[in-house]
Amino acid sequence: MSTIAENIAKVSARIQNACIEAERTPESVGLLAVSKTQPAEAIREVVAAGVRDFGENYLQEALSKQAELRDLPLCWHFIGPIQSNKTRAIAEHFDWVHSVDRLKIAQRLSEQRPEHLPPLNLCLQVNVSAEDSKSGCPPQEVAALARSIAALPRVRLRGLMAIPAPTEDVQAQRAAFARLKALFNPLVDELALDTLSMGMSQDLEAAIAEGATWVRIGTALFGARHYA
Ligand SMILES: *Cc1c(COP(=O)(O)O)cnc(C)c1O
Repeated sequence: MSTIAENIAKVSARIQNACIEAERTPESVGLLAVSKTQPAEAIREVVAAGVRDFGENYLQEALSKQAELRDLPLCWHFIGPIQSNKTRAIAEHFDWVHSVDRLKIAQRLSEQRPEHLPPLNLCLQVNVSAEDSKSGCPPQEVAALARSIAALPRVRLRGLMAIPAPTEDVQAQRAAFARLKALFNPLVDELALDTLSMGMSQDLEAAIAEGATWVRIGTALFGARHYA
């Protein structure tokens, strides 16, 4: 087996075990392979193992890999910070966006989503670790923002996403994911939400224990990232 095939087997086993532990079905957790900085050939190896959802952070890099991989039926997720001048290309070339953190970006994505494509799936990114205020909307703004985004015509709000401050303390990992879940629960019925995008290579077990429906896994699948 290649290293990537071995890695996929290990990650799948971790997801499976975490689901057993949490008394959840394995189908309730999706594996989003985070392929930023990884070449198209590495993505092909992951696809060969049955994965079809890929997450990218950098628009130009994503567009060139999408072009190289046009022959494959993949589902593309944008998971990086979004500048206003990038929304049109994102609306045209992705199936999901996990990193929406303000209304203006959601409005532009809705206006710019091409008519021939289904509504763009969105997650609202929330800053659940107060010390790192860089990305995500503040927790106290989630409900109002989620309602405004859910009313837009060409996007479909699916749920919430978070990138908590990294820690090896499993209780702290779980506490951060539980904060996201607590913001999500009261909105589920009202806005028909079904998605909690949380958990990465280091903390996927804690995320699954707290209800993750997508885990976003980069390093544990592809190995270390190589930045140009
Ligand atoms: C890079 C990245 C990941 C993957 O992180 P790993 O620790 O390599 O699994 C997940 N989510 C987001 C938003 C990322 O930018």
